[in-house]
Amino acid sequence: MTGRVMIIGLGPGPAKWITPEASALLAEATDIIGYGPYVDRVPPSPAKRHASDNRVEVDRARHALELAMAGARVAVVSGGDPGVFAMAAAVFEAVEAGDPAWRDLDIVVVPGVTAVLAAAARLGAPLGHDFCVVSLSDNLKPWSVIEKRLVAAVEGDFVLAFYNPASKARPDQIGRAFEVLRRQAGERIVVLAKAVGRPDEEIILTSLSAVKPEEVDMRTLVLIGSSQTRLIERGEAEPWIYSPRRWDA
Ligand code: SAH
Repeated sequence: MTGRVMIIGLGPGPAKWITPEASALLAEATDIIGYGPYVDRVPPSPAKRHASDNRVEVDRARHALELAMAGARVAVVSGGDPGVFAMAAAVFEAVEAGDPAWRDLDIVVVPGVTAVLAAAARLGAPLGHDFCVVSLSDNLKPWSVIEKRLVAAVEGDFVLAFYNPASKARPDQIGRAFEVLRRQAGERIVVLAKAVGRPDEEIILTSLSAVKPEEVDMRTLVLIGSSQTRLIERGEAEPWIYSPRRWDA
């Protein structure tokens, strides 16, 4: 049997947001590797499941490459898209540093719906103009770099989306990020989009001056409008949020 590594995005949560390509490849996997909660999202199949803890991405990637060398068809699963703050880069880190024979393996990256797209679709069209996506986790980069990027994004007047905005180990960073933005920007629309597409979904529409950092958790995608992002009010229903395509300086 010829081995293969399939790096697959499962989308933000619900089965309807898993692509047909991802479903087809999951069904033919002999082994499924990933962080436990993502492995649990894979529909039932005869594949052997190897669930691991968070933060052991490169070990997990090496394991997948070793299994594929022995002939397995391995699905490495991530939430959302596997290339966005997820397993695809960990697999390529392992390939770059590892056994030269791994470079000849059949490796395929299968895209998925990333969280910022799912959140934006709920709100209207906040990403209709240019936007920046930043992970607030400083596990793999220093906070000073994050702060520098936030300042530059505000200078460019981008819409901003934060992934990994907070965790139990990092409860304070989102508050520091809002402070940086308040120093640099005027008032902005802020949305806390939590667990989009899942049963516990919650959308909080607020502003840079009113947002409460304690309302942000690891299930949250934080969206901050540009100076042009606006609301379309509509009676009882929540307003639409959009960023016009046109930029009039
Ligand atoms: N590869 C994933 C992102 C992994 S980082 C993707 O493409 O979506 C994990 C972060 O993604 C979370 O801390 C949160 O900020 C965001 N996220 C993932 N799923 C989400 C969802 N359903 N709703 C809101 N945010 C989500």
